[in-house]
Amino acid sequence: MTPGQIDLDKGEKFLQENNIRYLLAQFVDIHGAAKTKLVPARCLKDIVKTGAGFAGFAAWGLGMEPHDPDFFGRGDLSTLSIVPWQEGYARIVCNGTVNGEEYEYCSRNVLRKQVARLAERGWTLNTGLEPEFSLLARDENGKIIVAEESDLLDKPCYDYKGLSRQRHYLESMVEALEDAGLDVYQIDHEDGNGQFEINYTYSDALDSADSFVMVRMGAAEIANDHGLICSFMPKPFSNKAGNGMHIHCSITTDGKDNLFQDDNDPNGMGLSDLAKKFMAGLLHHAPALCALSAPTVNSYKRLTVGTSLSGATWAPAYISWGDNNRSSMVRVPYGRIEYRLADGGCNPYLVTAAVIAAGLDGIDRDLDPGQHHNVNHYGQSQEELDEMGIKILPQNLSLACDELEKDTLFREQMGPVVDEFLKIKRMEWVEYMKQVSEWELERYVEFF
Ligand code: GLU
Ligand code: MG
Repeated sequence: MTPGQIDLDKGEKFLQENNIRYLLAQFVDIHGAAKTKLVPARCLKDIVKTGAGFAGFAAWGLGMEPHDPDFFGRGDLSTLSIVPWQEGYARIVCNGTVNGEEYEYCSRNVLRKQVARLAERGWTLNTGLEPEFSLLARDENGKIIVAEESDLLDKPCYDYKGLSRQRHYLESMVEALEDAGLDVYQIDHEDGNGQFEINYTYSDALDSADSFVMVRMGAAEIANDHGLICSFMPKPFSNKAGNGMHIHCSITTDGKDNLFQDDNDPNGMGLSDLAKKFMAGLLHHAPALCALSAPTVNSYKRLTVGTSLSGATWAPAYISWGDNNRSSMVRVPYGRIEYRLADGGCNPYLVTAAVIAAGLDGIDRDLDPGQHHNVNHYGQSQEELDEMGIKILPQNLSLACDELEKDTLFREQMGPVVDEFLKIKRMEWVEYMKQVSEWELERYVEFF
């Protein structure tokens, strides 16, 4: 149950009615990981008016040093919801302030600013997020393995047994998320062993980002209760499909009219000119968007060109669009667009903010998305792709960071968080490059 837009009195009533003893005052760091303080429920007013104080330097990417003033997470009452897997707890999502001012390194504020740019035009971006995740365990040597040992098929997608054998966990998760206010309508076994996807009804961009954080919190904690590890890591196994977090997008004016839909679309995809320009913005800025959408070293193992055991990675390495084409970066189901680049390791606020910035740029500059393609790009040669003018996304985090650095739109629109992101991601890359992997040892130790 979510209380919607509420005032403090209603918020307090909500806490009483649900026997809430503690609040989790929650924000995210630059990686999109949930950070919380535990607050007795009677202090709701303080959290809403003043906020919970955090030493900003202690969290990743808040642009702070140890001598800087505190980061205050001020609770947004409209986000108050119970935390069903922690009896007596409610969560309130916070907006970051410093010295009483909105803080521009707070990811949620970055998204709120882009949402406000849409609102100036009378628009709301609705997003439907599709989290994929892996259910894992550790073997006796501590090695990460697929939790269910019988989940071994080469093509495990939609497999009945694969789904059925994790049903106790999945039921707990569905029921908890429904109690937290999400309208779950489907869950399936995905294309990788141990991999699942949960679908719930779309919402406005900010609410969807908040919900995704809640999904990751709940999925992990409920899994822990079941003796499992639930991971949104983009690519846990090199030979199995990775965990995407596709974003379905449409723009509405009044909550009803979908401005992305036009039944007279000559391509028969039901896409309006507005949607095409928005999508053109995504395609045009794709290399830079890649860093924010696929923000880890591991993300690029998902976005590589090539196939998996089942015959496809399903992850888009190609900057293209097509109707029901799951090998392209943007798929058009009908009257909306599916942005397939983001993965389970993303910060949903920063990705959605970047999607809005790129989409609005496409609209403002009348960009053209070019030809759509209904061909399986995974099966195409480099020559064929070159002939069609299809470029490949950056193939590692460092290259993606170079692209983000070059593309001035994001720094202009999203502010200093972009440079903070680049600084941290460059450090992550250096750390990674210092590692000597098993693969390198196998390949080189006696090679020369
Ligand atoms: N797992 C794929 C990805 O990483 C997506 C599969 C699908 O289309 O649902 O994007
Ligand atoms: Mg999927």
